[in-house]
Amino acid sequence: MNNKTIVVLGSSNTDMVIKSPKLPLPGETIIGGAFFMNQGGKGANQAVAAARMGADVQFISKIGTDIFGKQSIKGYKDEGINVDKIFIDESAPSGIALISVDGVGENSILVAPGANSNLLPADLDKVIEEIKQAGILLMQLEIPMASIEYAAEAAFNNNVKVILNPAPAGKLSRKLIDCLFLIVVNESEAEYVSGVSVSDEATAIEAAKKISDMGVKNIIVTLGSDGVIAMIDREVFKVPAIKVEAIDTTAAGDTFCGVLSVGIMEGMPVIEAIKLANKAAALSVTRMGAQKSIPYRNEFE
Ligand code: ATP
Repeated sequence: MNNKTIVVLGSSNTDMVIKSPKLPLPGETIIGGAFFMNQGGKGANQAVAAARMGADVQFISKIGTDIFGKQSIKGYKDEGINVDKIFIDESAPSGIALISVDGVGENSILVAPGANSNLLPADLDKVIEEIKQAGILLMQLEIPMASIEYAAEAAFNNNVKVILNPAPAGKLSRKLIDCLFLIVVNESEAEYVSGVSVSDEATAIEAAKKISDMGVKNIIVTLGSDGVIAMIDREVFKVPAIKVEAIDTTAAGDTFCGVLSVGIMEGMPVIEAIKLANKAAALSVTRMGAQKSIPYRNEFE
């Protein structure tokens, strides 16, 4: 633990993935194809993405006493992630996500958060020193908002850079927004946060301006294969995506956020960190799975 540590505070899930010719509609049963089971959850995915860059990563999360939680811990340890501050919940199961992936790489995801919902501010009091001493605090919205706000405030008050990926889309309080160094949003999250309907570069810029007006210094809007719009200190940048053949976009956003955080931790200007994150995320969409698809640094640098 040192001021170069990236503390990821967020969810841990076990993903159960089925490939299918198309995503099932309500009431429909489809005979799909291959089945995969691997570690997921936006928090865990982003922690793994950062760890595979060689960063010092501490993951703060909550799992159940079941086999899924135990497997998760083993997986994170194998990645070199510090798991000392992962809480065990005696009363709820580990988080589970049921994921369908269709023939063009689109996905549909249903999550039972389980223990993730019980990661509360009282737990964070036990890890508050880790949060205060981090270089970066990276969070998503798959744990209770009260905990996200609590951690953000502790980090901000101790000059820790707070990076938020508000996914899945949720309402952000003034208190939380005021603590942010950087926000990463996809189209739907950008729309949720800014109120601007985002469908292309022009509307992404409009949304970024609205978020900037709220007081966020650095805004990144990811547009999948259409690249990234960034607003850094009120200046707009467009960064194209890397051209690849997408097979499965699961965890593309998480790969992007984890790698971006490492770039920033290493002192890169935000734009350079975006370019690095773009490369990693593009490679991730060419492979199946969540954590399985996240690349190691030497695969794209
Ligand atoms: P997901 O929920 O699928 O993980 P997301 O919706 O949060 O992703 P996207 O904007 O779709 O976020 O993708 C995040 C980043 O991943 C993009 O900014 C880009 O760098 C990369 N990416 C995603 N899709 C593609 C693609 N088809 N080709 C190249 N890069 C891609």
